[in-house]
Amino acid sequence: TQEFSVSNQNPIHGKMGRVPVGIGRRRMRIVVTGGAGFVGSHLVDKLIGRGDEVIVIDNFFTGRKENVVHLFGNPRFELIRHDVVEPILLEVDQIYHLACPASPTNVMGTLNMLGLAKRVGARFLLTSTSEVYGDPLQHPQKETYWGNVNPIGERSCYDEGKRTAETLTMDYHRGDGVEVRIARIFNTYGPRMCLDDGRVVSNFVAQAIRKQPMTVYGDGKQTRSFQYVSDLVDGLVALMEGEHIGPFNLGNPGEFTMLELAEVVKDTIDPSSTIEYKPNTADDPHMRKPDISKAKELLNWEPKIPLREGLPLMVNDFRNRILNEDEGKGA
Ligand code: NAD
Ligand code: UDP
Ligand code: UDP
Repeated sequence: TQEFSVSNQNPIHGKMGRVPVGIGRRRMRIVVTGGAGFVGSHLVDKLIGRGDEVIVIDNFFTGRKENVVHLFGNPRFELIRHDVVEPILLEVDQIYHLACPASPTNVMGTLNMLGLAKRVGARFLLTSTSEVYGDPLQHPQKETYWGNVNPIGERSCYDEGKRTAETLTMDYHRGDGVEVRIARIFNTYGPRMCLDDGRVVSNFVAQAIRKQPMTVYGDGKQTRSFQYVSDLVDGLVALMEGEHIGPFNLGNPGEFTMLELAEVVKDTIDPSSTIEYKPNTADDPHMRKPDISKAKELLNWEPKIPLREGLPLMVNDFRNRILNEDEGKGA
């Protein structure tokens, strides 16, 4: 365990990191679970770009090979088709745990990755979510807020799964000395986002491109704060490399109603776009906005890209994918 604690205290000179990259830094071997997904694939690009070795574990439940295909053939990149619900043996310095089925198995996957971190002395980062705050009674939300989650509601599986994942993460830290980090991610958008998982930004952008009305749920006055994916990835890496466990809110404090978001999408993509009202889902949080003072102070991080700058950066990617889909259907 002596060797593990050395690796723990200094990730730059981790157990596996023996190959120099640049000056004063050793190459690390890093696992990204869910690395073929939206956020994961951007994170992998950053880690590969700075010279590290990356192993992606993904079962392609919502992720796609297309998101990482440009890395095939790179000797520092490895892709394993694997469900994190099953145990896996690897030797690594750091684990970014992003894989997250919206089902109770989420907890199993987190447990296995914590077990792996414990065995090899790797540093473990959990991507938790602003959903742990539920329908918040505090605004904006600080990390000290314990949340307002309905344990038996339709969204509970995801929310409670992440809350349990946070609990497990802290238990492995306190009980087994695993070095951990917890990020609470607020709504994030950008290229490679799932086209059809029903998130509001992907829905509005795809609808505007397809010349369909944008579906606004409820009265459209509920708010969210939207973060561009590269800002999030910078925050995740700053958190992993820094000295603080967290939890840290990672989000953009710019707050928009869904009607305002529709307006931005309309201005960005098609001035003739229209909206259509639909009933809202149960337990939908009324408002959400991160207080990011903790991340600013301790991670020296804050988002740089406002919504009006970030949205145009995902439009080409969406246009191309929608075009390919339509061609696939013979349209
Ligand atoms: P995503 O669905 O694009 O990525 C998740 C990836 O995990 C996919 O590639 C999927 O195939 C993979 N996966 C799912 N279950 C798996 C399993 N059992 N074994 C192996 N791989 C599995 O989602 P994302 O938006 O990139 O989210 C990444 C992480 O960030 C998730 O943990 C999510 O909860 C968290 N998060 C995202 C947002 C956001 O707005 N995008 C907000 C809050 C939290
Ligand atoms: N685990 C894993 N890879 C490893 C070490 C552990 O997938 O390298 C899994 C292990 O199979 C178990 C979980 O992680 O299901 C928790 O491991 P831990 O050692 O903490 O628990 P234990 O096996 O002692 O119950
Ligand atoms: N929403 C909407 N139209 C859509 C999809 C979602 O108005 O086509 C609303 C949804 O009711 C919620 C907000 O957008 O109030 C954000 O939903 P999303 O699923 O993107 O994120 P989350 O609720 O997880 O923050």
